[in-house]
Formats: sequence, structure tokens, C-alpha cells
Amino acid sequence: MNAPDKLPASPEPHVMATYGRLPMALAYGRGCWLWDTDGKKYLDGLGGIAVNTLGHAHPQLVPALQDQVSKLIHSSNYYQVPLQEKLAAKLTELSGLTNVFFCSTGLEANEGALKIARKYGHDKGIDRPEIIVYEKAFHGRSIATLSATGNPKVQAGFGPLVEGFVRVPLNDVVAIEAVARTNKNVVAVFLEVIQGEGGINPAKAEYLREVRRICDEHDWLLMLDEVQCGMGRTGKWFAHQWAGIKPDVMPLAKGLGSGVPVGAIVCGPKAAKVLGAGNHGSTFGGNPLAMRAGVETIRIMEEDKLLENAATVGAALKAGLERELAGVAGLVEVRGMGLMLGIELDRPCGELLGQAAEAGLMLSVTAERVIRLVPPLILSADEAAQIVSILCPLIKKFLSAKT
Ligand SMILES: *Cc1c(COP(=O)(O)O)cnc(C)c1O
Repeated sequence: MNAPDKLPASPEPHVMATYGRLPMALAYGRGCWLWDTDGKKYLDGLGGIAVNTLGHAHPQLVPALQDQVSKLIHSSNYYQVPLQEKLAAKLTELSGLTNVFFCSTGLEANEGALKIARKYGHDKGIDRPEIIVYEKAFHGRSIATLSATGNPKVQAGFGPLVEGFVRVPLNDVVAIEAVARTNKNVVAVFLEVIQGEGGINPAKAEYLREVRRICDEHDWLLMLDEVQCGMGRTGKWFAHQWAGIKPDVMPLAKGLGSGVPVGAIVCGPKAAKVLGAGNHGSTFGGNPLAMRAGVETIRIMEEDKLLENAATVGAALKAGLERELAGVAGLVEVRGMGLMLGIELDRPCGELLGQAAEAGLMLSVTAERVIRLVPPLILSADEAAQIVSILCPLIKKFLSAKT
């Protein structure tokens, strides 16, 4: 996340200053709308960074969570947790994969995926397993996941980094083939189907199919980080499904619990039995409240046809942005799928985050020059049109002021 240009003094000096925050606080929300503590209203184009799948205070999610809180929030992984089976069954049905490990965040899901890849290597006699990762990737901020991340800013100050990663550019089959020819220690390929923090950069369907083929040829795991692009955001349950392939390992988090922290590592047959008793764990992972949030999120998404909504409203939003910004000097590209869209400008535009909030719209700016829209999947066509009519004049003004 990029900080807006000028930061106010933190109003809460006891909270560590790890974020560049705007001088405002949200008090409550309803659907795709939020209100701050001064009563000002905002349209939510950010969804808490691709988290609030069902928007805010969803009339079906709220009573379900209230019911769960009144019964059992947390038990322990010492015991059976029936709701884990229920959510795992649903996730495997939707993905065509076979088994799930539950955790609480995206980095935790990715960290577990990296452990699976390394143990998969050790199990077949590779003592120093290496994992192919990508330029501009983002996988989280633990030491291992920031080492896998392809952004020097995320890594600066935290060395020595974890070893065992080989980095390649996205959508470059020749580059990954070259690694395959020369490096016998590779055990897995790890990538986001659409890079989120890196600036909404999609892996091409043809590239994904080639990487699947290369993984099969070399007996590598294909691990697709769908923490941001998964859970219906692109109009399919998982973004890789557009390419007609299946991964061996798929970390999920963000949108899975509509705001309740839920992470998952969904695995296919090649990876599902790599970890056994005692190999991995998470105290909070898979607790009944988190599982109920996941189960209800998916149930409501199916009932309300939110995949279709993400696809159609997303397409309308993208078309609206393209129409309003056509020919504007300084616009590089509008890209993305469904309700995961990026508008790349030819210059850093972090200050638009604050300007948009001022104008009543939540969004983010990522990779310095890319305005990111990842709203709740319940966004209506009318709300999409409102995003266009608030945002496009701001972009035009910003670009014309600085040329
Ligand atoms: C947000 C994100 C993560 C990290 O998730 P956290 O819940 O913040 O740890 C990992 N990978 C991708 C692709 C993400 O977008």
C-alpha cells in the first residue's frame, strides 16, 4: 500500500506507525456504503482490500455470525471441528481439489504452501529445494513470504532473506524453461494468477497452461496464490479456472470470510498428503467462528449469484472507466477482470487515495501508479456507475494538473 503524500500525525500514538493512514475512521457500513465517525458517507470501491465480499452488515451474514458467537467462537484443533469439514468440502467441490488446511491470514496460507513445497522436495530426496517465484509478486510480510515477494521495498531492512527462491518475469515461458533446464533443485512454481499489490498484472491463460505443463513434466508443484484474486472476484470461484487448469496448492484468505479472518491452503492429490500429524499447525486456524463465516459467505455468494454479478458489474465498471478515460493523456491502461481492476497512470498517484476519500470514494493505489478497485462482490450496476462518475473527473484533474 502506498502512503498518501502528506501524512497527518498519528491520532493513536500507541499503535505502531506501520501504515500511512488517512486522518479519518470508519464507524459503520451497509452494503457497499460506509460512514465515518463524522457521519460522512463513502462508496466502497476497496472492500477492505478485497476482503468484504458481502459488503458491510449483510442481512444474512450478521445473524449467522451472531448465532455462532452465541454458541462457540473457538474450540481447539485438539478436537474435531465439524464446521472445518463443512467448509473444506465446499472449497474442494468448488476447486476440484481434495484437502484443505485452515489458518487465519494470507501470509499464513502462503507460509504453509512454502512448507509443503519444501517437504515435497525433501520427500523425494532433494535436500536444498528451490521454488520459482516472480518479479512484482506479493505473498505477505513474514520472513519467508517477504523473501518470495518480488518487491525490494517490502524486503528492505529485513535481511538476511530466506534462501531457496529463483525469480523469473511473469508471462515469459522462455525464462521458466531456462530454469527448468539448468536447476535440478526446483520443486514448485509459486505465483499469483493476477498480481494484486504488484499492480493488477494478470498471468496470461496461455502462460498458466504452459506452466502447468512444465510442472507436470518436471514433477513440480504448481502453487497459485489466490489470496486476492480468488473467491469469486474475477467472476469464477478461482481466477485460474479461466485458464482451464488446476493447481496442486492454492492459498486463499482475504475474501473467504467476508471480513472475519480466514485463510486456507487448498491442495490437490499431489500435495494433500505431504504434511502429516505434527508437521504444521495454527491455534486460531479453522476455529468455529471463522469456519462459519466461510461457510455462510459461500452459501450467500451462491444464493445471490455473486460470481455472475462480479463478472457483469465488473465488465460494466471497466467499460465505464475505459469510456470516460479514453484518450486522456497520462492514462496507460485499464486492466483486470471482474471486480479486480487497475487503472495505470504514467506517474505516481498515491495522493488520489486521499482525494478520492474526500470525494466520497474508497480505493487504493498500488505499485505507485495503479489505482486499484476491489469492491464488495455485491456491487450494483448503479453503484459501479457512481464509482465511474466520482473517480474519472478526479483522475482527469490529477493528470492535467501535473502535465
Ligand atoms: C494480501 C495478500 C497476501 C497477504 O495476506 P495477509 O492476510 O495480509 O497476510 C498474500 N498474497 C496475496 C496475493 C495478497 O494479495
